[in-house]
Amino acid sequence: MEDCIFCKIVSGGISSQRVYEDSQVLVIRDINPQAPVHLLLMSKKHIASALDVSEADVPLIVRIMVVASQLARKEGLAERGFRLLTNVGREGGQSVPHLHFHLIGGRQMSWPPG
Ligand code: AMP
Repeated sequence: MEDCIFCKIVSGGISSQRVYEDSQVLVIRDINPQAPVHLLLMSKKHIASALDVSEADVPLIVRIMVVASQLARKEGLAERGFRLLTNVGREGGQSVPHLHFHLIGGRQMSWPPG
């Protein structure tokens, strides 16, 4: 999508710190990390949010979960625990309308979230 910042990151139009990439998924480091480890796992295809995921996207979503667990191990978070989440819409705190999951860890998380 033309005006989407994450589509521009996927195409290389905007630079990012790439951590992992395959045909469906791109993982970058968040530019404003909220913890020692803060990765963004995004769909390469433009999907606005989790609300717009369809049956056809099942392989993509499973792929993102598999990559998340692999990277959590690689970043040393498997034993300690971490958070994996996607924000949806205004009240959900989503600022970039392109499907992505935050993988956040390396410090104690609190609940409920703010
Ligand atoms: P959300 O608010 O859930 O939509 O998450 C969007 C995330 O993208 C935020 O944590 C931002 O810090 C991050 N972000 C925005 N622009 C960039 C960028 N150019 N490179 C890396 N992360 C970004």
